[in-house]
Amino acid sequence: MQIKLQNKRRKTANVQVGNIFIGSDYPIRIQTMANTDTNDIDGSVNQARRCIEAGTELLRFTTQGLREVESLREIHAQVLTAVPLVADVHFNSEVADAAAEVVEAVRINPGNYSKDASKLEERFVHLLDICREHETAIRIGVNHGSLAPRMMEKYGDTPEGMVESVMEFLRIAVNHDFHNIVISVKASNTRVMVETVRLLVKTMNKEHMAFPLHLGVTEAGEGEDGRIKSAVGIGALLADGLGDTIRVSLSEAPENEIPVAQDLVDYFTDEDSTRYDGSVVAEVLDNIGGNAEIRYTSYEDDWNLFCLQAAAECGRLLWDYKATELTLVNPNFTENKLNFLSKDILQAARVRIYKTEYISCPSCGRTLFNLEETIRKVKEGLTSHSASGLTSHSLDGLKIAIMGCIVNGPGEMADADYGYVGAGKDRVSLYKGKECILKNIPQEEAVDQLLRLIENDRKI
Ligand code: SF4
Repeated sequence: MQIKLQNKRRKTANVQVGNIFIGSDYPIRIQTMANTDTNDIDGSVNQARRCIEAGTELLRFTTQGLREVESLREIHAQVLTAVPLVADVHFNSEVADAAAEVVEAVRINPGNYSKDASKLEERFVHLLDICREHETAIRIGVNHGSLAPRMMEKYGDTPEGMVESVMEFLRIAVNHDFHNIVISVKASNTRVMVETVRLLVKTMNKEHMAFPLHLGVTEAGEGEDGRIKSAVGIGALLADGLGDTIRVSLSEAPENEIPVAQDLVDYFTDEDSTRYDGSVVAEVLDNIGGNAEIRYTSYEDDWNLFCLQAAAECGRLLWDYKATELTLVNPNFTENKLNFLSKDILQAARVRIYKTEYISCPSCGRTLFNLEETIRKVKEGLTSHSASGLTSHSLDGLKIAIMGCIVNGPGEMADADYGYVGAGKDRVSLYKGKECILKNIPQEEAVDQLLRLIENDRKI
């Protein structure tokens, strides 16, 4: 059966964020988040300039407290009108109120917006009033792994729980006639992320809501694996016609995210892309060992683009057609190369597991260590350990998380088997599943301790 590739975008409301609009009447916006200390004004402004030059259309900064709000005021003055700035606020609704007077948008996380659930509506309506007065937009951003305790009790850490966390806030906003809202529901597990966004859209449709969507896969990692994982999740939804703004989160410099996001958007929206020239064809072959196989063909001749496009197209097909095999066909590349890419896509879609999965956050102003270097050391360490104490086979399917901070890291590292989490200046905590095994150990020992922990558990 040949699959028809569609390109119909979901009709959404247009939300004004500073000098741009986000919504289906406008191009899909590309955004990123700074990973500087927000209080380092020069460093933050320089990074903002690099991101703007790379093409970001919005830029977010971590905003832990009122001191960061004042720093944002300064950063804003220096990059004024270039792109709208977004304050990323967790845990303190008063910080969100203050930031709403300074920047064009405020991101809040329903999971930790207000400690006191009985005051949630009162607190949120207060923020809505400030945003109305200052023409500030709100992003309601829910992440898998950081739901409010009462949502966890009722729904568990499920797509339903994530959707209900958003809907609770949307209903309050609609009742108070506030509509300048963009929504995101993200997860590191691409399957969960796609299922949740689809459920959210269904739920919003039932309640006649058309808020625009921000798409992203959290903790996607870095390098080719990070790009493929992001493309699998974001691409599946863009192929559904969903998504009005995207962020490709990578554990790299934020400006590296922009060209990847742009390539994804171009692939789905540019009528000159291979998706529309007839060279991209997907076929589902039924009855292969009781499961379907996806055969996909494309004439794209740039390898990096092909990886991104194949990942963006295939995740959705694998899930929707319950396929467990993937054969990529492209005369421009060798069969061997295409086979490796098929395996990476199957793993990114969590259809089959072939190798160790690295879950790492993109880092932000809360990160107090060099995340990229740590990922490299852990990967190198495991490669050499697999040559000695561990067999590479014993590492297959292992999920290792490297997270920038203790505030959001443990919750958002999802179903990782082991976690390396920044616990403060020069301090790290190590996790086995959700359990903290070594707390606040010196950073210089932490990679070795993590490798020892894995080796002791996995040696065969
Ligand atoms: S886990 Fe912590 S350091 Fe990493 S991006 Fe999230 S808030 Fe920032």
